Amino acid sequence: MPTIYSGSWVGIFSVDTGIIVLRDLYILILNDTQKVSARLNTDNSYMARALELAQQAADVGEVPVGAVVVKDGEVIGEGYNQPISCGDPTAHAEIIAIRNAAALVNNYRLTGCELYVTIEPCTMCVGAMVHARIKRIIFGAAEARAGALQSQLQLMDGDYYNHVIEWHGGVLADQCGAVMRDFFREKRK
Ligand SMILES: [Zn+2]
Repeated sequence: MPTIYSGSWVGIFSVDTGIIVLRDLYILILNDTQKVSARLNTDNSYMARALELAQQAADVGEVPVGAVVVKDGEVIGEGYNQPISCGDPTAHAEIIAIRNAAALVNNYRLTGCELYVTIEPCTMCVGAMVHARIKRIIFGAAEARAGALQSQLQLMDGDYYNHVIEWHGGVLADQCGAVMRDFFREKRK
């Protein structure tokens, strides 16, 4: 692995174009293999932030799910699951992150945005992401009971929706699943 990945990058950073501007403003053009590595690297770092948000949910007694919305490499919305504290059944992490992102960019469409969430999303959240025109969903652990992308339903496999979202699961899956298991183990005590 080239040592460049240990350097910190700032400013313009796009995995799609493979152009990275490092701290000293040295411009680096990635080849295809390096683009895949860079993508894994960035997916992990945004998921790590979503995990921190999931922990915030756990700290207030909510089922620990966290989500971030990313546009052009920048986090523009964050959320954690809080239906109980908000008295709002729709207050899932993804919905809150989408609302915050839409408010920030002042647009009901989040075209070109990626949504990272620690647990495979439910039907409501996948539906909201379609309405928001999210470009890509990245989730951590699969949700066997209510997951709507691969586990229980495969909503993106049908031709029902007028917008298809690319998705990818299993990013930091062990850590994302562990936060859930720990939460429910504590609750049973
Ligand atoms: Zn949901």
